[in-house]
Amino acid sequence: MLSNRVKSVKPSPTLSMDSKAKEMKAAGVDVISFGVGEPDFDTPDNIKAAAIKAINEGFTKYTPVPGIPALREAIANKLKKDNGVEYKPEEIIVSCGAKHSLYVAAQALYEKGDEVIIPAPYWVSYPDQVILNDATPVIVETSENDSFMIDPAELEKHVTKNTKALILNYPSNPTGLSYDRKTLEAIAELAVKHDFLVVSDEIYEKLVYDGAEHICFASLGDEVKKRTLVINGISKSHAMTGWRIGYTAGSTDIIKSMSKVQGQSTSNPTSISQAAAIEALNGPQEFIGTMLVEFDKRRLYLVDELNGMEGVSCLKPSGAFYAFPNIKGLLGKTYNGKEINNSSELAEYLLEVAHIALVPGSAFGAEGFIRMSYANSMENIREGVSRMKKALGL
Ligand SMILES: *Cc1c(COP(=O)(O)O)cnc(C)c1O
Repeated sequence: MLSNRVKSVKPSPTLSMDSKAKEMKAAGVDVISFGVGEPDFDTPDNIKAAAIKAINEGFTKYTPVPGIPALREAIANKLKKDNGVEYKPEEIIVSCGAKHSLYVAAQALYEKGDEVIIPAPYWVSYPDQVILNDATPVIVETSENDSFMIDPAELEKHVTKNTKALILNYPSNPTGLSYDRKTLEAIAELAVKHDFLVVSDEIYEKLVYDGAEHICFASLGDEVKKRTLVINGISKSHAMTGWRIGYTAGSTDIIKSMSKVQGQSTSNPTSISQAAAIEALNGPQEFIGTMLVEFDKRRLYLVDELNGMEGVSCLKPSGAFYAFPNIKGLLGKTYNGKEINNSSELAEYLLEVAHIALVPGSAFGAEGFIRMSYANSMENIREGVSRMKKALGL
């Protein structure tokens, strides 16, 4: 009865890990979660107030499918001010979260025979969104030695006449690392030379540490911008994951086609959330700095602790709120009578014995690693680290 398309897709492993932890919690187990993919901060009050105002004023009806003009203008201003790229409002479409932006783009762009290059470790939804749209994901490994940046020479080896797009994500979920300008420029050069699209997921743009600079892929030149779809949103930057607002900037023909897809599926994103998003983009931005200071403390603590564990090593993340430690030194050993041979067995063991939840690297196409989110209180992180050490006999 079910389509082959849906049968070939797996449920999101990060969401399923999260639901297992929540089940245990509901059963009364005190689980500490390093699995979460959203800020643990509340949406700022000024943004909530804008939404309440929208409700009270009756701004509760359908809006234009790609978003209201004032929001698309606010996004255009943001892209110009923060990223130095000029987009007209008609080159922008607002969707129901950046995940939805990526999906609508996939529907508008991919078809049978298309190849879409995805560097691993990758965000869990990329390959499945490609498969759901009948195209083929081409996974290209990256190396920890290159800070998980795709090697441009390796990328070029995987380009064929069927290559439709490359999906980039920096700062990265799951690694917390970003790309340097030199590598981005080399990738951009290949995109122009071989004429493929770059879908650049920059949702963690605002969460960068040590004064690092975020370089928007579309800012690398006019020929590059023509071939780029910038994906961004406010879920991570403004602690608004539940509001479901994300956006895409790109050439008018692609944005128009995405609007067509969206018009036949979800129609507009929620009117109230759009009003809130305008406040998020145009209102005061101090909240982000406050959140970053907290994330930074936790980042330094967690990475230090991880590097202090025998058999574990962790690159210092430069963005987002994830640590992605190499745990190969823990594998092939027995803990409390249980032999652990891969990241998934380690994650299960730690959930059962230490009551800490995290996501195995295999979910992101990177065996030998685990992802630990530090979007959790310092107190919980400390307790979780101590439980982890105990369970590993450290
Ligand atoms: C969280 C996340 C998204 C999606 O965010 P929403 O706006 O909540 O849909 C997209 N890409 C990456 C890499 C993410 O981590």
